[in-house]
Amino acid sequence: MTARSKLLLAVPVTWAGLWTTPLAELASDLDVVVQGRDEYDPKTIDYALGFRPEPGMLATLSSLKVVFSLGAGVDGFLIDPNYPKHVPLVRFVDHQLSREMAQYCVMHTLIHHRQQRMFDQFQREKKWRQSVPPRRTEDTRVGILGIGEIGTMVAERLRDHDFRLAGWSRTRKAIDGVESFAGHGELAKFLGRSDILICLLPLTADTRHILNAKTFAQLPKDAVVINVARGGHLKEDDLIAALDSGHLAGATLDVFETEPLPESSALWSHPKIMLTPHVAAISDPRVMAKNAVDGIARHKAGKPLENVVDFARGY
Ligand code: NAP
Repeated sequence: MTARSKLLLAVPVTWAGLWTTPLAELASDLDVVVQGRDEYDPKTIDYALGFRPEPGMLATLSSLKVVFSLGAGVDGFLIDPNYPKHVPLVRFVDHQLSREMAQYCVMHTLIHHRQQRMFDQFQREKKWRQSVPPRRTEDTRVGILGIGEIGTMVAERLRDHDFRLAGWSRTRKAIDGVESFAGHGELAKFLGRSDILICLLPLTADTRHILNAKTFAQLPKDAVVINVARGGHLKEDDLIAALDSGHLAGATLDVFETEPLPESSALWSHPKIMLTPHVAAISDPRVMAKNAVDGIARHKAGKPLENVVDFARGY
């Protein structure tokens, strides 16, 4: 029998049941307390599970052993200047999550590639226009900014459609059918060959606002931008300017600097923008709970944890 341990669930109280139920089913030796709902002594917390805990809170948990992120992105933890760096942070990596992200990226790449928005307009105007033949995927160059867990699956799914693919990452990759560009020295060349640019980078000090006026100017004319990573990657005003000037042909956005997107945002009604409310992929709470329970078991057994964030890289 293993010793009991205590997990702090740091999520909005109204959603807590999504995780407390599977956690109770999966780990009978785990006491779960919900921040903001249950009383607890901070010194007794062994593990934490959350998404965007309030800055400074984790530093008060003096016995904390591991933090599990409910998201693939961990920027919500690393904005905390007092994050206790001696405590490993495990991010959420899941096949189903990557598959949903890939689905979203393939769908929007195809919508832009096949000019579906233009045909939507023809339909509204009741115009029968056959004068625009489909473009060939071999002629459309897709560039994936950040070719990690999700970016790699996106590339694999797009490869099935015969797009010309490239990925940009910190380190060089060898992925069949995907040209690899690495580091800032190769960014301009990568952008120059990307008709459709998909952002799948983690949000770090190095990647914040990487989608800006300078980046857009380096893309070919009539390029399209798809941002499904984090709102902080994009300078929203620069995107609107590049669309309005006619340099960019369109954009798809799932993530925003401020979420929920304020009603006053010009993005809502821009004719060249398609947007969704951060729903490209929604993680399954049961899988997230299992991920944390498995991680706790590994930690208790003295085995190395998987998907641990490198604090120096920021992802
Ligand atoms: P990941 O596995 O950590 O991959 C990150 C990729 O970005 C890696 O290829 C990495 O290069 C590259 N990279 C990081 N910093 C870089 C830099 N400074 N210069 C060049 N390349 C850099 O991340 P992931 O799990 O695929 O997640 C990708 C993004 O998707 C995250 O921002 C996450 O928050 C977001 N996301 C969004 C949703 C949604 O619903 N919209 C859902 C899930 C995830 P190396 O390979 O060389 O390390």
